[in-house]
Amino acid sequence: MKDDHHQVFNELAETGKLADLLSALGTHLDEYLSFEHDDSMKNASDWQQQLNGELPEKGVGAQQVIAEIGEVVLPNGSAIPKPGFTSFITTGATSIGALATLSGSVAAPQRIGLNAFNYLEQVSLRWMAEMLELPTEMKGLYSSGGSVANLVALGAARQHAFEKIGVDPAQEGVIKPCRVYASAGCHNTINRAIAVLGMGRNSVKAIPVDESGRMRVELLNDAIRLDIQNNILPVAIVANAGSTSTGAVDLLRAIGEIAWQYGVWFHVDGAYGLPGILDPETKPYFDGLELADSVIVDPHKWLGAPVGIGATYVRDYSLLYRAFHQGEADYLEGSVYEENIQHSMDNLGIPYNDFGVELSAPCRGAVVWAMLKEIGVEGMRARVCRHNAMARLLAEKANKHHNLELMLAPILSICCFRYTHNNCHDLNELNRQIHRQLLLNNQNLPSTAMVNGQLSLRPCFVGARTHWSHVDDLLDEVLTIGDQLMKEGI
Ligand SMILES: *Cc1c(COP(=O)(O)O)cnc(C)c1O
Repeated sequence: MKDDHHQVFNELAETGKLADLLSALGTHLDEYLSFEHDDSMKNASDWQQQLNGELPEKGVGAQQVIAEIGEVVLPNGSAIPKPGFTSFITTGATSIGALATLSGSVAAPQRIGLNAFNYLEQVSLRWMAEMLELPTEMKGLYSSGGSVANLVALGAARQHAFEKIGVDPAQEGVIKPCRVYASAGCHNTINRAIAVLGMGRNSVKAIPVDESGRMRVELLNDAIRLDIQNNILPVAIVANAGSTSTGAVDLLRAIGEIAWQYGVWFHVDGAYGLPGILDPETKPYFDGLELADSVIVDPHKWLGAPVGIGATYVRDYSLLYRAFHQGEADYLEGSVYEENIQHSMDNLGIPYNDFGVELSAPCRGAVVWAMLKEIGVEGMRARVCRHNAMARLLAEKANKHHNLELMLAPILSICCFRYTHNNCHDLNELNRQIHRQLLLNNQNLPSTAMVNGQLSLRPCFVGARTHWSHVDDLLDEVLTIGDQLMKEGI
């Protein structure tokens, strides 16, 4: 009898209805979202020991797996979804995003085919372009995140630049020294993308930034002119719409005009910051966005999607095809019809696999569609406005307090500040220790950044569950810890 029982678990992927399993999992997830558990490193040896068992010869069944997820895995999950978490640029997914992801993995395991999930990629990309006021002729493509989204955009830029000199770089390779001009404040995924695209990291020219973190446009002009004189091919200019350290938005119009003047591809990295265009207060920063040839945005940052969703938009989609198409394949012969379509697998649907670097990939469109459908543009705008206003409120309070110093006026939803004290001779070390103690207290969890050589606390407000109260909570805690450390005499 017992053996029969095991047999069932061995042979079937699951027992019982998904609804029952989901209901059990839902209870555990709600418990997790009450954030009453300790940080996972408090009792690491306990749960590691429980999880580090032998390879199971016999299965325990789906219900038991859910129970273990609820009892051992979830309570020792990540700190990122905590409402007080403001490190880096990342946050927990909203529930609708997580549920839409689950729906896709059940009902459309691949993004291909003529079905609602494939269709929603196009719908949601169009919605997002409209919401973020991208040029109307731009078309989008999903990928796993900002790193790949930048790679895809820069692949189009490479194609554009080399085709102009009569070379197909996708076929023939990069046969001439070339250059990509990027703000010194650009994300380092730009360097990697350029390396992967065969242009070499050395071909990235970092253009210095001013004290507020924006590219110095006059230096850009000089750099391009010099390269052209030296027969180096300009491939792209990369500007930030929300830099990762401070949220700086480059002067898009001025940079875009230079790009157009030289006929050089203009790429805007808005992985984090582009949704800032929804806030009337910060919208003016995005003036000139319409000059871009390509733009990226990460729905898995400010829009609250589960991680694994980035989007690239380009003006000339055919460049993506020429840069990334896979060519013929024996296994596709005879399976794909262009006419007289009668079945969802008669055709691959929107052929994303020929426009980027992924083939098998999850259906991300339904996730973005669900998030926009849930709260609408109004809801997204309200969230972005709240986050930006929280950064400004924090800045205002830091400015007023004699033990706090604002390092940089917030541009979007990042605020860099630090604790100061007349008797402290090493403020970098003091703030490092404050940050360490914040982590150990496990409530308010900003990261840090060097701002003009000074170590700052750097909350970035992007979490849907992060609210106004977290501004005061964070400041109160920083002051309490700072005062205490000064009393102890660091
Ligand atoms: C986060 C970020 C990236 C990288 O995105 P991933 O989704 O982490 O791959 C690129 N550029 C900027 C400006 C970012 O903030």
